[in-house]
Amino acid sequence: MQELINLYEQMGISQKVYEYGEAALKKLADRFAQVDKIAEYNQAKVLSAMQKNRVSAACFAATTGYGYDDVGRDNLERVYADVFHTEAALVRPQITCGTHALTVALSANLLPGDELLSPVGLPYDTLQEVIGIRPSPCSLAEYGVSYRQVDLLADGSFDYDGIRNAINEKTNLITIQRSKGYATRPTFSVKQIGELIAFCKSAKPDVLIMVDNCYGEFVETIEPSDVGADMVVGSLIKNPGGGLAPIGGYICGTAECVSRCAYRLSAPGLGQEVGANLGLMPALYQGFFLAPTVVAGAEKGAIFAANLYEPLGFRCVPNAQESRHDIIQAVELGSEEGMIAFCKGIQAAAPVDSFATPLPWEMPGYNDKVIMAAGAFVQGSSIELSADGPIRPPYAVYFQGGLTWDHAKTGILMSLQQMVNAGLIDL
Ligand SMILES: *Cc1c(COP(=O)(O)O)cnc(C)c1O
Repeated sequence: MQELINLYEQMGISQKVYEYGEAALKKLADRFAQVDKIAEYNQAKVLSAMQKNRVSAACFAATTGYGYDDVGRDNLERVYADVFHTEAALVRPQITCGTHALTVALSANLLPGDELLSPVGLPYDTLQEVIGIRPSPCSLAEYGVSYRQVDLLADGSFDYDGIRNAINEKTNLITIQRSKGYATRPTFSVKQIGELIAFCKSAKPDVLIMVDNCYGEFVETIEPSDVGADMVVGSLIKNPGGGLAPIGGYICGTAECVSRCAYRLSAPGLGQEVGANLGLMPALYQGFFLAPTVVAGAEKGAIFAANLYEPLGFRCVPNAQESRHDIIQAVELGSEEGMIAFCKGIQAAAPVDSFATPLPWEMPGYNDKVIMAAGAFVQGSSIELSADGPIRPPYAVYFQGGLTWDHAKTGILMSLQQMVNAGLIDL
């Protein structure tokens, strides 16, 4: 379409870059159809949970103060519990981010003398201070919770012998991170997570399993709670917020685990009964309703990015062909300049702050400088088109999101254009 080529050119994307993208896209029709099928299933899953729980306008009313008898909040938690097939859910704007949700889940269910085990290697950067792997005030380590870790084998698979040896009488909670975080290991499928959970429970039947589900929601038709996790935890400014939630986190799981989380989040004795919704219910409901489609658009963007960058010689995780279990696409750009150029493109394609230039920066909770490109309606939202990564070898950029597939596509084309302009790619 000539009008589109002209408009893209006006926006700074050359015809050459556009055509390179179109050629890659031609081969992706079947992949995209599969993504749409999963979205259709998950849309029906969310819709039926909303219908079953008789969501009505009364659920959208704002509450303030203590938030006793908050009908909308309590019903949203039942909707989440039904979608994740769990006994209970805690879904709150008072949970400030994913790290906070994970901290609540861990500290509510681990007591002094207990041990936490990660059988999938080093957890996500911010969790390292929560656990006390990097010393930090108020870490679990300070409260007498010890930590043990079993790394993945060289091929990215689980070290079952190592895990069996690591589980001991103190092991009370096992944390499994679904998504790769800032590592270039593969993301686990829900099926793989289920196998790992079954193994851990056979070694110690009463051990609790928590899955860090960040970026994984709605990418498959099942969630880790369908394969034995006692708690699944995530952020509402990622997948399940659908781009509309302005803040929040969720913990879905057994009634016992979730009620402990509620006591930890508010106070012993208060628990789930308090926590006003501050008028956020329309966004939280509507965002959850949109999430399956938004996730599908983001996943198409990730597949497109791998199919653009891999043929140019950049290692992509997952690679251009692999099946997907989260919305993250890592592209190893090999240099700081490459990371900056890529992120510049994503920023330039944003609806908000497109005029800003992303630069590497010290960030709380992270050990290395981090570069982040995001021109988002919700600050820091990474279900919106965004790219980030720590400035350290292999200089991988982690690309994710896009509220619509078309926007994700524009962003990726713009990143490629910036790489061309910086002389890092020759098409
Ligand atoms: C994003 C993320 C988190 C939490 O990060 P926040 O920025 O605190 O929301 C935790 N684990 C993984 C794997 C993540 O991707």
